[in-house]
Parts: sequence; structure tokens; C-alpha cells
Amino acid sequence: MGSRQRYRLRTAGGREVIREIEPGRSYVDEETGEPFEVVGKIVPLEPSPSDLPYAVEHLRLCGCSLEQLVQKDLNDCPHCGRRLPALEG
Ligand SMILES: [Zn+2]
Repeated sequence: MGSRQRYRLRTAGGREVIREIEPGRSYVDEETGEPFEVVGKIVPLEPSPSDLPYAVEHLRLCGCSLEQLVQKDLNDCPHCGRRLPALEG
């Protein structure tokens, strides 16, 4: 309850957003005017999938357009659901 299903949307030009969508409605990229296509469903995650404290030394950018900080021990971005690259070293 409360948390609605979010989807990953992508334009033909490759721009992506994550958002909730309403069935039957179409979405358009406001910057390019391209229509968005639904390319994936965002899987809800546990509230706290990381064992690390949310402190800057344990965080890195997830690398997606949302530019969210995520804990380094996570395999998937909790914000966009994207697989995170392996850490160097
Ligand atoms: Zn992300």
C-alpha cells in the first residue's frame, strides 16, 4: 500500500525515466517530444537492502540519469533497479 508500481520508460533516442504510469495514458519526453515506451517494471526492493551505513564513504553514484547515491555493497540500484557495475579494487 502506498507505493505504486513504477516503470522504466525509454524514448527512441535512448532517454530514460523512471515513473509511475497510468494505464492507457501515453507519455512524451518534454525535452525532445519523443514518445516514451515502457521497457521495464521496477521491482520493489526491501527498505534497507544494504548492510552499510548511509555515509559518504560507503556511497557511489549509481550511474543512471537519476544520479542517485547508493551503498557500495548493493548489486542493483534501489532507485532505478539498474545493475551496478562491479567495484574496482
Ligand atoms: Zn539508478
